[in-house]
Amino acid sequence: MASFTRRKHSTTVESCYALDINYMHREGSLQQGAHGMMYWIRTDFFGAEHTASVSTYRTARGIILIYALGDGRPQHLFYHIDIAQLPCNYGGIRPYLICPGHDSARAVTCNRRVTKLYKLPMGQYFFCRQCHSLTYTSCNTSGNALKIARRQTRRVARKLQLRTVPSRPALIERPKGMHKKTFELLKDEFLICYQAEQDALSVRIAAECTRLNKLVAASEAFIRSHLARNADNAGD
Ligand SMILES: [Zn+2]
Repeated sequence: MASFTRRKHSTTVESCYALDINYMHREGSLQQGAHGMMYWIRTDFFGAEHTASVSTYRTARGIILIYALGDGRPQHLFYHIDIAQLPCNYGGIRPYLICPGHDSARAVTCNRRVTKLYKLPMGQYFFCRQCHSLTYTSCNTSGNALKIARRQTRRVARKLQLRTVPSRPALIERPKGMHKKTFELLKDEFLICYQAEQDALSVRIAAECTRLNKLVAASEAFIRSHLARNADNAGD
């Protein structure tokens, strides 16, 4: 099965494609025999859009994932992921994905029960956070990273005599009187800073969405338990 090698450098979950079983559940993709589709759009530094999609097919034991690797790679992947169904506290059944990651160095299969599996942007397979050694970026850290990245972008923009940060940074023009070599160095530095700012912004937005989703889930759980208590009291 799909195996992985432990990486020295960690990536954040926010920068990966996430296969979310709660989303699939809401969309009806987990009904027996159902076909589903997950779709992502990413915009790169030069404004070009990269799309990725995964088709799913529900089987008796889980789901089959079908997708192309994209980015010029012709390979198509097709593999099965088991699903576990467990009763939840407020009634009903909650589905979980079983991570198919196989650690070839230790000859063990992960089998963790999770709600999300992740694929690295240039990776092949969907595995859990632990198999991919992914980390979360906290709101505070991402906020600081965004501030620092913005400051650096604006510092280099001033050197390039830009009044505002351009919408298409690759098309910056050389200021009058600036030596060509100096301009090329500054432009490269600007592109790096701008990309870092965009990355930090994406992380910040993802962290904020995660925080809000948790808040909504907690509110819904509270309302459900409150309604259940009221129903119990009315029945007494
Ligand atoms: Zn795993």
